[in-house]
Amino acid sequence: MLVLVINSGSSSLKYQLRDVDADEVLVEGIVERIGFPAEDGEIEIPDHEAALDVVDAALQDALGGRQIDAVGHRVVHGGERFSQPVLINNEITRAIERLNPLAPLHNPANVVGIRAIEEKWPGMRQVAVFDTAYHRTIPERAWRYAVPDWLYTRHGIRRYGFHGTSHEYVARRAAALLELPLEAFNAVVLHLGNGASATAVQGGRSVDTSMGFTPLEGLVMGTRSGDLDPSILVYLGRQGMSPDEIDDLLNRESGLKGLGGSNDMRTLVGAVERGEAKAQRALDVAAYRLAKYIGAYHVAVGGAQAIVFTAGIGENSTVFRSLVADRLGALGVAVDPDANALRSPDPRVISTEGSAIAVLVVPTDEERAIAEATAAVVRTSAVR
Ligand code: AMP
Repeated sequence: MLVLVINSGSSSLKYQLRDVDADEVLVEGIVERIGFPAEDGEIEIPDHEAALDVVDAALQDALGGRQIDAVGHRVVHGGERFSQPVLINNEITRAIERLNPLAPLHNPANVVGIRAIEEKWPGMRQVAVFDTAYHRTIPERAWRYAVPDWLYTRHGIRRYGFHGTSHEYVARRAAALLELPLEAFNAVVLHLGNGASATAVQGGRSVDTSMGFTPLEGLVMGTRSGDLDPSILVYLGRQGMSPDEIDDLLNRESGLKGLGGSNDMRTLVGAVERGEAKAQRALDVAAYRLAKYIGAYHVAVGGAQAIVFTAGIGENSTVFRSLVADRLGALGVAVDPDANALRSPDPRVISTEGSAIAVLVVPTDEERAIAEATAAVVRTSAVR
């Protein structure tokens, strides 16, 4: 089965064509600057349908006359309704659209991508895979904020969680690596990329996660602050900052960038090696915050069997992993320095034999997870 995975942003369209049965990537790429005037030597791409023409041309060689069987969309917000990937029809598209207020930057762009496919390839089977869906098993005690009920009933203000596709995929692979049944697997999964979140996994299900109403809550990220005292926002507002300025400050100017001057882990590690204090401070704050979450989620899952690192930093940064692991002595965690330093694309254990909790590095692959979910939905809906 050939599945085209689409991640549609407001001005970009990322795509990957996969052969699901052969587990093979046939072609991938990104079309950028959609809706922007062309620069020298560039073709202008006025909208997402025009972007799909570019994608279509890029796919032809790889397809070699074969047909795409289905399209899988990464959709950021599935609200309270979607706990599984679904086959898209008009009603589903409208339901995703109704969630726009909860993800104003992402869901409208996802819907534009869905409609553009429908225009270009009428009747193409499309599946929506939601970033929030895995977290629909989080119990109310964990998703509630301690605020008056009308904030939830009228505005949908609660914790939703994100990166679900990645957390679910990585939890499944981690359980397989340790040869434990997923239904009996307790873990803390750490997706550490430019955006970062931790998930408490109990019996293979998400029972808590660090991102909340939006992807701003929780860990120190590339450019996002993560947790802070909400009164800081009120204070800044009273000082005359507008909501948009505060949003920009906390989402784009904070985190590792705000503390250390760069959102790139490699740059920061290089700066630490040159003895730059602010880079060291950024890593210390981020590692300390993360270690606190690991301790909390170890309790939340009733004792984790594994701590799992994934995404850009989690998979690649030996330095950051050891900074975090060094803070977990109270949990009996011990990482083997040689195993930690090893570079490999494969899932692996980096803790010592005697470590009370296994520490794993498991590469994530959201496109693969979306393609597999899409194929599964299409197959079950075909037999009905
Ligand atoms: P992602 O959002 O998953 O692509 O992750 C981006 C983050 O991963 C950035 O902070 C990068 O600096 C970091 N990253 C990527 N490759 C490496 C590497 N080889 N060593 C350390 N950090 C890396």
